[in-house]
Amino acid sequence: MNSVRVRFAPSPTGPLHIGGLRTALYNYLFAKKNGGTFILRIEDTDQNRYVEGAEDYIKNALEWAGLVPDEGPGYGGAYGPYRQSERKEHYHKYAKELVKRGHAYYAFDTPEELAQMRQEQESLGFHSPKYDHRTRSLMRNSLTLSESESKELVDKNENVIIRLKIPENETVTFSDSVREEVSFSTNELDDKVILKNDGLPTYHLANIVDDHLMEISHVIRGEEWLSSTAHHVLMYQFLDWTPPNYTHLPLILKPTGKGKLSKRDGAKFGFPVFPMEWKQDEDLYAGFKEDGYDPAALINFLVLLGWNPGNDEEIMDLSRMQELFSLGKIVKAGARFDIEKAKWFNQNYIQQKSTEQLSSGVKALLKKHNVEVSDDYIQKYIGLMKERVTLVPDFYTEGQFFFVAPDSYDEKQVKKRYSQDTVPHFQKISEIIESESDSTILSTSVKSYLSDNNLKMGVYLPLLRVMICGSMKGPDLFEIISLLGYEETNNRISTALDRFGSMID
Ligand code: GLU
Repeated sequence: MNSVRVRFAPSPTGPLHIGGLRTALYNYLFAKKNGGTFILRIEDTDQNRYVEGAEDYIKNALEWAGLVPDEGPGYGGAYGPYRQSERKEHYHKYAKELVKRGHAYYAFDTPEELAQMRQEQESLGFHSPKYDHRTRSLMRNSLTLSESESKELVDKNENVIIRLKIPENETVTFSDSVREEVSFSTNELDDKVILKNDGLPTYHLANIVDDHLMEISHVIRGEEWLSSTAHHVLMYQFLDWTPPNYTHLPLILKPTGKGKLSKRDGAKFGFPVFPMEWKQDEDLYAGFKEDGYDPAALINFLVLLGWNPGNDEEIMDLSRMQELFSLGKIVKAGARFDIEKAKWFNQNYIQQKSTEQLSSGVKALLKKHNVEVSDDYIQKYIGLMKERVTLVPDFYTEGQFFFVAPDSYDEKQVKKRYSQDTVPHFQKISEIIESESDSTILSTSVKSYLSDNNLKMGVYLPLLRVMICGSMKGPDLFEIISLLGYEETNNRISTALDRFGSMID
């Protein structure tokens, strides 16, 4: 039996952030590379932060990105249930076991008593005082009260929680594949709450109990969890369990390179930070999906935020990533989030695709904008625009002149190049277009006409483009004309000639 089992363990407190998707991706790749199992576990023990719809969002986002869990809620598996809210009895059992072994204790302090302790400690000169080896003896807990008093309070179940009893003057050491050895002095660690008064565990207890019971071999998660790992390793020791292997992933930094990328940065910098759109209350957060990114391109962009294959290979599909992936090549330094790079990947992916592969997406896009053209027209259109778009929606915005005549013209070009003298020649050009539909022959014929009559290409060709497209942008002009056909082109030329006169006054 293969022993590699990894889990992606998001809390359903909102949509999956792009950093979460990267964590899921690295877990997925590591599992697949090693013939292991990729598990989705929903860590929903914090009821105050629970957000309706977040779990579905997480699953949809993973599936859209192609990272389908092997086990998880709704995916089956022999280690379920995979939602922590459905696993309470396990946490109770181990919280009590820790108390029994003397590594945890009941505490009964009220919020007021806790605040008072902090205040007193601060006034004695202790900065950011904690509930720990130093202060626990001053508080109301099963270590300071008599057994009968404690039992009575536990039975009354008022303000009862369970805290870890962190030993004094010890060093907790664990290895991390990105950082090698990491050590914490237990004197810096607080007596973390592991079971709350509502009967639910905190993240720390639930996380290690599940990692153990689900036989997780490797924990791959964000750097923000590094400092919790000391508590986790201690709990493994207390329960005589073997901890998993740890890998803490580097932060994803803001585009400026300063500070962690936050969910609010999307709106601030004008790009999505969520895989898919997310609506919450009045707010709408943009998604890579809706902005027209190909999930394969997004994944390719993400995999390189914190890992590289050790050579300069950049374009990789999921199976190639799987082949190359290794935890040893994850870097320690934060990775700057550069949306231009994401766009570059997307552009590459669009260009690699065949017209057939692109056509359903483009058809849907055009339909959304009420554009009705034949399939044959769409195919040819895609062929002409493919090299020029970055995101799928550009297939509409960058090529609107393929579907509607321009309603405005590049004024600078018109003012600079148009004169009344050009009119008869454009009429002539229109006639050439009527007689020929092949773009190459058309191009040669129009250009020969211009040179035979000593007319400047640099005047007529830009003007012709502005007449057809409104601006100087777009693919080869004669390809455009050939696709639009004589009638449409002729109409555009006539309309433009009518309007250009008044633009130069
Ligand atoms: N529930 C934690 C989170 O939301 C999981 C951290 C871990 O992977 O241990 O990220």
